[in-house]
Amino acid sequence: MAHSFYQDVMRNFEKATKFLPYSEGLMATIKECNSVYKMSFPVKDDEGKIQLIEAYRVEHSHHKLPTKGGIRYADNVDQDEVMALAALMTFKCAVVDVPFGGAKGAVKINSRTTSVPMLERVTRRYAMELIKKNFIGPGIDVPAPDYGTGPREMSWIVDTYSSIKDGELDALGCVTGKPVGQGGIQGRTEATGLGVFYGMREVCNFEEDMTALGLTKGIEGKTTVIQGLGNVGYHTAKFFAEGGAKIVAIAEYEGAIYNENGLDYEAVFQHRKATGSLLNFPGATNLENSNAALELECDILIPAALENQITAENASRIKAKMIGEAANGPVSADAEPILAQKGIIVVPDMYLNAGGVTVSYFEWLKNLSHVRFGRLTKRFEENSANDILKMVEEMTGKKATDVQRKTIIQGAGEKDLVYSGLEETMINAYHEIRHTYKSTQGCPDLRTAAFMVAVKKIATSYELLGIFP
Ligand code: GLU
Repeated sequence: MAHSFYQDVMRNFEKATKFLPYSEGLMATIKECNSVYKMSFPVKDDEGKIQLIEAYRVEHSHHKLPTKGGIRYADNVDQDEVMALAALMTFKCAVVDVPFGGAKGAVKINSRTTSVPMLERVTRRYAMELIKKNFIGPGIDVPAPDYGTGPREMSWIVDTYSSIKDGELDALGCVTGKPVGQGGIQGRTEATGLGVFYGMREVCNFEEDMTALGLTKGIEGKTTVIQGLGNVGYHTAKFFAEGGAKIVAIAEYEGAIYNENGLDYEAVFQHRKATGSLLNFPGATNLENSNAALELECDILIPAALENQITAENASRIKAKMIGEAANGPVSADAEPILAQKGIIVVPDMYLNAGGVTVSYFEWLKNLSHVRFGRLTKRFEENSANDILKMVEEMTGKKATDVQRKTIIQGAGEKDLVYSGLEETMINAYHEIRHTYKSTQGCPDLRTAAFMVAVKKIATSYELLGIFP
């Protein structure tokens, strides 16, 4: 029997609770969605006709505030999907030590076929609905981009919020993923893809795990298939290519392309922009059926599109050695044991795509502190490093080259700090998950281990609140 996305998330949660010592009441408290807000509101379209728009905001857990999670624009969203995604946000934040509860929003609208003025009217009205019901605010619930939304939508939201809450000092922190000029942070756009890279690099750095798969240590040279060339897929491709991986196939909804010698991700991206399709990229083989790309032979398969891509139907045909879930929920709960049986390592979404929310957390901190990271320290660090370098030069009688000088004395700017904070977060979280996986007898997969890590942290915060002594 096929299960809904939300049921799948709940089944995965329950798999983990079997290994944990907590009471049924505490587990139910952590598991269920706290608030589900379904709304409909009218917006005039470009012809002046009234369209009724369906939208959602779900706050899954208030164990830490604010709650946090993106807003999805898609014409097939429903309440079940938003609840599943909100729940995943709770566990995602816990896994990477981001002190927020989980939430998610959605508007039933196609962002590709809707005009920009209409998108703006819908976004501003949606923000108004959230304000009216107290479902948004820097200390309440902080949305961010997700599938079908980006910095532009976030800038409309922050503008609507600030104009209503005139004088609210921390208003900029009501939403993250904003353009840098409007309170955003350097590195947020590429954060999810960069996190996917740091995460998979760490997975590949465990020699014994790679040997078990018949592979060598490190990400370099690993053949990689990427599904989805949106913000997450594009940046994942970029950082994988820069890290030395070989991207052999890229898939989108119109089809997929393959080249065993590797694809130039940037040229593919430009080709798609110019022609409207991935297909017919010079030197590559077309795969008319986009899903066929998932079944290609490769070391790493990265589904970076939507949920439910690898199911009980196609799991037995997957030939990848590792699957890195850049999207939310691409591997169904029924597919997981089939993949585990084949020895495929599945690196779970709640860990691997947490780069986005991690950098959102940095952005929120920046908004609350009203100062750019590195502003007070960059010059000071550079001057100190310069003094030390001068001393070393005098003592040794040798002169550093211009390139050496630049690398040695360079103080950390905002982007350097964001990248370094994200790298630290992804490495630590993977070590924690892997340790739990290895040290729990009978733990079936990394996802169950990640749930265990997350649930333990959430349970502790309930204990600290004195709710469950
Ligand atoms: N939508 C992203 C996610 O699913 C980012 C959420 C956020 O930054 O709050 O993780």
